[in-house]
Amino acid sequence: MRIVVVGGGASGMISAIYSARAGAEVILLEKNEKLGKKIYITGKGRCNVTNDCEVDDFLQNVVHGSKFLRSSLYTFAPADTMEFFENAGLQLVTERGNRVFPLSQKSNDVIKTLANEITSAGVDVRMKTPVNEIKADGNSFRVCTPWETILCDKVIVATGGVSYPSTGSTGDGYKFATALGHNIVNPVPALAPLQTVEDVKCLEGLSLKNVRLTSYDGNGRVLAEEFGEMLFTGRGLSGPIALTTSSYINRSEGVRFSLDLKPALDEERLEARLLRDFEERKNFDIKNATRALMPDRLNSYVLKVARIPEYKKVNSVTKEERSRLLNALKKLPFTLKRLAPFEEAIVTAGGVDIKDVTPHMESKKHNGLYFVGEVLDVDALTGGFNLQIAFATGYMAAKHATKDIGDNND
Ligand SMILES: Cc1cc2nc3c(=O)[nH]c(=O)nc-3n(C[C@H](O)[C@H](O)[C@H](O)COP(=O)(O)OP(=O)(O)OC[C@H]3O[C@@H](n4cnc5c(N)ncnc54)[C@H](O)[C@@H]3O)c2cc1C
Repeated sequence: MRIVVVGGGASGMISAIYSARAGAEVILLEKNEKLGKKIYITGKGRCNVTNDCEVDDFLQNVVHGSKFLRSSLYTFAPADTMEFFENAGLQLVTERGNRVFPLSQKSNDVIKTLANEITSAGVDVRMKTPVNEIKADGNSFRVCTPWETILCDKVIVATGGVSYPSTGSTGDGYKFATALGHNIVNPVPALAPLQTVEDVKCLEGLSLKNVRLTSYDGNGRVLAEEFGEMLFTGRGLSGPIALTTSSYINRSEGVRFSLDLKPALDEERLEARLLRDFEERKNFDIKNATRALMPDRLNSYVLKVARIPEYKKVNSVTKEERSRLLNALKKLPFTLKRLAPFEEAIVTAGGVDIKDVTPHMESKKHNGLYFVGEVLDVDALTGGFNLQIAFATGYMAAKHATKDIGDNND
């Protein structure tokens, strides 16, 4: 049996390894000059390969497609990914939040390990080979490159999404899927910074801890509520809670945010604190009375939002002004202009519609055609979940595609 795997990223490499180990003749086509270009930049160069948690906990971190992924994640769980790498000689270390990294802290070692396993399994790897077209031809497929047409029994499409297109993920799989009768759910950036209507340039580089960001759609319905660390960029909000938020709001219109700078204090307690501070600093400029509450640059920004001049004396601040200040501290408002573009989005949400794909990753339109990894309409939060999805779906497709050869793909 001949299987062509299109794309040499995380999902394609695992598919190729397990298909070849099961006895298939495997050809892996990659348009770049090397394998795993995206893996190289994952986890800030350290590659967070998976998340060492139970599958049910894992599924809580899947934003789209958790039901669809359930079976593949149970079949090839985080523990299986860890076993795969350790058996291949890559030592791993588990860090905060169950995030698993190579002990060497080098993503390149993950790529090398996968590449070694590909060679050992006897996969025919063809680099600098872009696939232009995939044609279904009865019970077989024709995979067209600029140089040749490869006839095969099965095709595994592992071309990724459209995030960080410089790594080779340029959405080619959507084109193949569409031509083969599949629907594409509109791809949108996920785990991406949020660009705001408000000018926050003056806050660029400022990071905040223990804040709460709540997002609302155009009808005022809460879309997400995230607590933790955040960072201001020149164009808006980034950092962990902003990235997570992006994955929950990327299909909504008229999105607004409210940032609670003091989530540990409810309004009543915060007001009591303000009154106490004001009482103690009656003759101070307001700016100097509120500076204990937040970093300097944010202090100026908050006072501006509350429409209180920085140099106004505390004893002349009106009740209305105090109420506006309280509101700005608890509900600092931002409006979404747009999400940062795909060039800055860690993953792509949307892609090949999972309604037309079986839990084995096989197309419901063409037997023998498989879609794995980020090309599918699935996405998860940060923490090693997206690579695990690539590995689990890649394994699932390989296992199913080779089931008639025998059950020896371990
Ligand atoms: C900056 C960044 C950091 C990240 N960090 C992490 C992390 O630490 N942990 C984590 O779990 N996830 C992380 N992710 C997400 C994760 O990297 C991806 O979800 C995962 O790599 C997707 O794997 P894939 O195999 O589906 O697709 P890709 O990695 O996109 O691979 C697709 C491959 O297909 C090739 N290809 C495309 N079209 C064609 C064609 N026509 N012909 C031939 N080849 C083709 C491409 O060149 C590419 O090599 C990160 C992503 C980014 C951008």
